[in-house]
Amino acid sequence: MKPRIATFMTAHTVRRIVKEKDYLNKLKNIFNELNIEKVYIENYRSGLQVTTEELRKARKLLENEYEVSGGTCIGTWGEDWGRYADYGFKVICLTDNKNLNLLAKVMRQAASVFDEILIDDFWANWCYCNECISRFNEQYGFNLNVRSFREALLRKDPQIMSCWADYSTKLLTDVSKRYVVGPAKEVNRDVKVILKVAEWRENFHFRGLFFNALKNVFDGFYVGTESREGTQRYGSFYIIEYVRAFVGNKLKGAWFDTYNGYELRIPIGINTYLEQGWHSALGLVDEITLFNARALLEEEKREHFERMGHEIPLMKKLCGSIKGESVGLIRPAIQPSQGAIFERYLEDALGMIGVPLKVIPLEHIKEGDYVLITEEDIGYIDIFELIERGCNLVVSSMAAELIAKGALGESGLELLGLSKVMPLRYEAKDVHAFVYKGNVIMLEHRRPSGMVIGPILNLERGRVLAYASDGKESYPVIYISEYKGTKVYVLCVTKYMPYLKMMYPEIIRQVVRDIVLEYLGVGLVRYRDALFDVSVFPYTDGTVTLMNMNDYGVTFDLVLDKGKARIEFSKVPKDTVLGKAKIEHISEDSEKISMHIRMPQNSIDAVKFA
Ligand SMILES: [Zn+2]
Repeated sequence: MKPRIATFMTAHTVRRIVKEKDYLNKLKNIFNELNIEKVYIENYRSGLQVTTEELRKARKLLENEYEVSGGTCIGTWGEDWGRYADYGFKVICLTDNKNLNLLAKVMRQAASVFDEILIDDFWANWCYCNECISRFNEQYGFNLNVRSFREALLRKDPQIMSCWADYSTKLLTDVSKRYVVGPAKEVNRDVKVILKVAEWRENFHFRGLFFNALKNVFDGFYVGTESREGTQRYGSFYIIEYVRAFVGNKLKGAWFDTYNGYELRIPIGINTYLEQGWHSALGLVDEITLFNARALLEEEKREHFERMGHEIPLMKKLCGSIKGESVGLIRPAIQPSQGAIFERYLEDALGMIGVPLKVIPLEHIKEGDYVLITEEDIGYIDIFELIERGCNLVVSSMAAELIAKGALGESGLELLGLSKVMPLRYEAKDVHAFVYKGNVIMLEHRRPSGMVIGPILNLERGRVLAYASDGKESYPVIYISEYKGTKVYVLCVTKYMPYLKMMYPEIIRQVVRDIVLEYLGVGLVRYRDALFDVSVFPYTDGTVTLMNMNDYGVTFDLVLDKGKARIEFSKVPKDTVLGKAKIEHISEDSEKISMHIRMPQNSIDAVKFA
């Protein structure tokens, strides 16, 4: 049942299991405890290439009990290799012939033993050596050296970054064809080569991981779903949706490790680890890989895997029962050559306040859809064309600021309902109160009452849904404007996305959730509690999954609007799927169902409306 659980055995561990029978047996015990059905057997990592004999022996030792496939970590550098870049981890230069020949050798070996090879995520264009920069100059007409190139990156020079993204894409695509997939298929015509991409989606294009090019080279894709401590865990789900929007059913699986992120040598917190597992499972991939086999036996991670072992059957039960696809506020699938500066991972923060998101190709966005427009879309997609299609917009703070500064000309000012005289009053403003439906709301208990909002726009038209105040004047922070018959919601609360999660009064988050509820016809409404670190995942088949990532219980209302629901609806659920959350009260009228739900701390559960 979905998802199948796999693990990945690095080259160093492969060498060990062929020598140490005891160690292999210990590994097999933990594989069985964790329901592991498949093992990836790696032939190369960081300079260590196991012998073909070792690879065949490892395969033999495992293939009777588990499905086996090949793995490799090309991209990592070792002593025998040529030029490299050093980021604390060493990665190869893709213009060095010595490296290219070794790559082909590694790939031929893996393909001689396996029919499937999964490539770990160091495969990207990382290098800025003299040779790489001079090739770049030659192809794009620049006259840069390593120092001036790096300075351009620091000031985020859009022209140089965009050309570098193009250069990286062409280089990585060419090298992947000629030295990775090509040599593998020469040895084994039927081999499937799967590329895993990492968790840092904002840099994919810049480092050459441009899906429109690579999806014609690789047979499949895998995605890293690590959240790391201090990040917004919804991103572990979102990145699956993001990659799928480009590669469709070529997406094969998700993979996450046990590293903390602040300091890779210490493990991530146990709850965060389990939550990234659940987010991966809710992405409805066929396979989840626990990285890596050796870590499964490390004493400091014992509790991580013990608890994961309990969750895996629940993941299979819940995710195996979902027959639809996820729905959410629409994000267009784009791969800009440079990620957003302020609104990086904005989607992850929204996901953590109970706003579900859905990434789809631009051409699939249709009339009536609510589309989230952010900093990275400005200049990348034709927003007015979306309006012509009849889409409604939800415009983020930074996108609004850029538009107010003239990024879309005078039409942009009309789109947001702004005055042509000084459309942007302030980029940011200190306030200490919010005003909603005439009520003044302040947050002062055990925290500063002052906070920053922005941008402050000079509205010519529009209806303000929430204001902020410094005691002298009120400023619109969320408003709706009409443009050519479509709705344009503008969120001027903040361009510092982590603030949205915890800094402002709950009503601000609820106004954002209400906008999305109006579109999806299903969503969360706060009860008494502040609602953050709570996510909702509605699926078209009527399943609504709920996740409470707080270390305390929360109560909220799950609301379904019968006329608007974009999920199937044929019954009012009386019980939850896993029996963890409690449905305390249900009220229903001709238009709406409202379920009062209590979720215990750090829990996942679901209800089914069909
Ligand atoms: Zn180089």
